[in-house]
Amino acid sequence: MSDGGAATGGGGNLAERLKDLLWPRACAVRDCGVPVDRPSGYLCSRCYATLPWYDEFAQSAFAYLSPIAELINRYKFNGATYLTDDFADALEHSFRRKHAAAAVDVVVPVPLHPNRLRTRGYNQSGLLAAAFAARLGRRCDETSFARIRDTEHQSRSSGDERRENLKGAFRVVNPVFIRGRTVVLVDDVMTTGATIEECTEALLAGGAYRVIPFTLAKALMDEDLGEAYVNPCYNTQK
Ligand SMILES: [Zn+2]
Repeated sequence: MSDGGAATGGGGNLAERLKDLLWPRACAVRDCGVPVDRPSGYLCSRCYATLPWYDEFAQSAFAYLSPIAELINRYKFNGATYLTDDFADALEHSFRRKHAAAAVDVVVPVPLHPNRLRTRGYNQSGLLAAAFAARLGRRCDETSFARIRDTEHQSRSSGDERRENLKGAFRVVNPVFIRGRTVVLVDDVMTTGATIEECTEALLAGGAYRVIPFTLAKALMDEDLGEAYVNPCYNTQK
């Protein structure tokens, strides 16, 4: 908001810039029309933040389609943990296309509640996170971030119900390896994104500098398209 952005503003002769000063541009988003507060922008900052960012919130290696969907289900529910290396290969390949391993401080899985861990015997996201972190040569931390509330099985709930249900379910229980760090948050499948979003918020609340949500697969759902959200991957409360 400070500098006028003359270098980035493109066009705009003196007369036009003067007009902008006297008469701020109205946001170009239909039905918004508030005065634009971003230098050289035609969208207000609120509309800009709530554009339907794609592939900006969570990165995924795969679309949750055949045959990867069946493989993940076997991995998750039928003990097919021998698939860990194949999945970790895919995670590494996908991740390195957009990020440098050196930019990562720690890899953290979406935690299971201890009750669920007892009945299932393993946290599939924990296995993925550990194998993926090893490939990056980074630390995997499975104890600093925990699910402190057990939530009922919710695969049939809508996104809003899931969000409500998950409020306060996760917490940084030991901030030493989280505070000020860039954290890659790993999960197997992103469906509505409610779990990933809640975990991201909890990690930022626990002091993480940045969270990179990263899942093995993403379920593509029409109902989610057009649902606006604020890109919440950066800690803005410093
Ligand atoms: Zn606007």
